[in-house]
Amino acid sequence: MKFAGRVSRISVSQTMAVNEKALQMREQGIDIVDFGAGEPDFPTPDNISQAGVRAIESNFTRYTSIGGTPDLRKAIVEHHARIFGSKFDVSECLVNVGGKHAIFNTVSAVVDDGDDVMIPTPYWVSFADIARYAGGRTVFAETREADGFRLTAKLVESCLTAKTRLLITNSPSNPSGAVIDDEEFVRIAALCRERGIVLLSDECYARFLYDGLKPFSLGSRPEFRDTVVIAGSLSKTYAMTGWRIGYVLGPKELIAAVQKIQSHSTSNPTSISQKAALEALTGPQGSVAMMLAEYSRRRDFVVERLNAIPGIHCTRPGGAFYAYPNISSAFTRGIKDSLEFSVRLLEESHVAVVPGSAFGTADHIRISYATSLEQLERGLTRLAQFMARLK
Ligand code: PLP
Repeated sequence: MKFAGRVSRISVSQTMAVNEKALQMREQGIDIVDFGAGEPDFPTPDNISQAGVRAIESNFTRYTSIGGTPDLRKAIVEHHARIFGSKFDVSECLVNVGGKHAIFNTVSAVVDDGDDVMIPTPYWVSFADIARYAGGRTVFAETREADGFRLTAKLVESCLTAKTRLLITNSPSNPSGAVIDDEEFVRIAALCRERGIVLLSDECYARFLYDGLKPFSLGSRPEFRDTVVIAGSLSKTYAMTGWRIGYVLGPKELIAAVQKIQSHSTSNPTSISQKAALEALTGPQGSVAMMLAEYSRRRDFVVERLNAIPGIHCTRPGGAFYAYPNISSAFTRGIKDSLEFSVRLLEESHVAVVPGSAFGTADHIRISYATSLEQLERGLTRLAQFMARLK
């Protein structure tokens, strides 16, 4: 069968390739330590799940407004205001089927054929494919490991082209955990506004910050009202990956455009999940602090253990739940690249990681520490032994 050209512009992610192999090996009864998963290992908090159960029991199982129920949109706007000091109106908010859907629909609404979309590396793989699917050309702004992978206005400026239409940021970052400095973020947004570029800020990990860093959103700065769009998600913050609830906060006209796209594709996000999301945002928040404290402990453990392995060095992530160690010393010891490193680590030591090539850098692997300290201990011991065995 012949497929549309837009399908050939995107590819199946390398994340999936290693994942598939890990699944097969597990089915054969092999004990795999999985550092590949990009989702919390905690269950959805019970009060949130119960709200979903109540939605089913009370037959709240019909279509809702395309952009989400008014009470959920109000809850999102108020929650964002409480955490980040933003001042969005309900008409500037729309609920989607997860953060990825929020990004997909926003990019579809903004990017035209031939537009340039700037994406800092290392990047979450879907940014690039979503931009290409929309007809855009990707321009990668390569952050430096020596700067902790932090994006700067200077780097953005050096990568601008006459056709730059959109910049996608992700702070804290998947995969590096890098957090853009608040003042630098404002300088980047000012530069975008000056050049008529839309800035899409993916805040999916914005609550996962360590070392006393305070949550910051460009949504709190009224001067960027017309040029900044926020994509948010409840997936990671509330351990709700399967419920599929995300949102867009941005200019009214953009919300209307996204709503139009949504009206002909998914329609509303699941009614049951919307009730659960309402409880997540308006109910007790203790589970978020509990999960954050645990991720912080794991981050300290992982970074210390990684840096103690000869031949590996790892920058200290400021947020999210990923470590992004440099394993390039293995390239002089019989390993060709990060993909081969990941495949051999899986086959020989039974540890699943994601190769950095999936995120646009050659020298790294991604380790998700959204798994127990016990698993981290086992997997990192295996990684150390794997490194020691390389000739
Ligand atoms: N943005 C980033 C950087 C992510 O890592 C993810 C998920 O892995 C998402 C967005 C989308 O999450 P969801 O669609 O589950 O809300």
